[in-house]
Amino acid sequence: MSIPILEVIDLHAAYGRIEVLRGVDLTIPKGAVVALLGPNGAGKSTLVKVISGQKKATSGDIHLGGVHLKGAASEELARSGLCTIPEGRSVFPNLTVAENLRLMSYAGVSASAILDTAYSYFPRLHERRNQFAGTMSGGEQQMLAMARALTADPALLLLDELSMGLAPLIVDELYDTVRQIAESGVSILCIEQFARTALRVSDYAAVMTGGRIVASGEPGEITEAMTDVILGGAA
Ligand code: ATP
Repeated sequence: MSIPILEVIDLHAAYGRIEVLRGVDLTIPKGAVVALLGPNGAGKSTLVKVISGQKKATSGDIHLGGVHLKGAASEELARSGLCTIPEGRSVFPNLTVAENLRLMSYAGVSASAILDTAYSYFPRLHERRNQFAGTMSGGEQQMLAMARALTADPALLLLDELSMGLAPLIVDELYDTVRQIAESGVSILCIEQFARTALRVSDYAAVMTGGRIVASGEPGEITEAMTDVILGGAA
């Protein structure tokens, strides 16, 4: 078996004296889409923060592509191919779509190559290329946040609550693109409170509650009953 893109082993983290991650184990195989599901306060965003270097773990290990990451600085994480799209997206509202994308050009990658990639995944962004990002719908802003992340050619993409505040139809569309992105070789961890759409495109799923993974497997193995109990029937 090839080395997983991400391996989280017995990870603990706390805010002050309150332990929020209480021994998390999670593996993402290369090229897979993994859904991490769980109710409010389960610790999902904290896990993303620890993996992406924004918060220190109290103990445990993280390996990205076989390389030990614990305590790694954000630039080092970016170099090792990790890219996070945080909850609430992150676009420059007073710049146009094209300007938001052009900002991502860096040595070796031209702005036109970046625009081509972005527009091939998200034709809607091409239609809206001259619109100020802040005036676009939530779904279109999420497309732009994803397109910006893809320009860094990530090995692993962390998507925190992609569906937040969006209508079901657009969430469905975004997850179709998540699947397409994975088919191009990018591994993806989708953090979601609401499960059904994320499970549709995922290879594996894990359910988190109380700072621990309480169930994991292929989407079909995360039973309806379990989903109902953990998510209060919200999925
Ligand atoms: P949600 O879906 O609501 O974002 P989550 O599963 O992502 O939930 P976290 O945001 O990781 O959960 O929060 C886990 C626990 O840690 C919660 O009890 C939360 O109140 C607490 N917490 C989160 N951030 C902080 C912080 N900066 N300081 C103190 N406690 C925090």
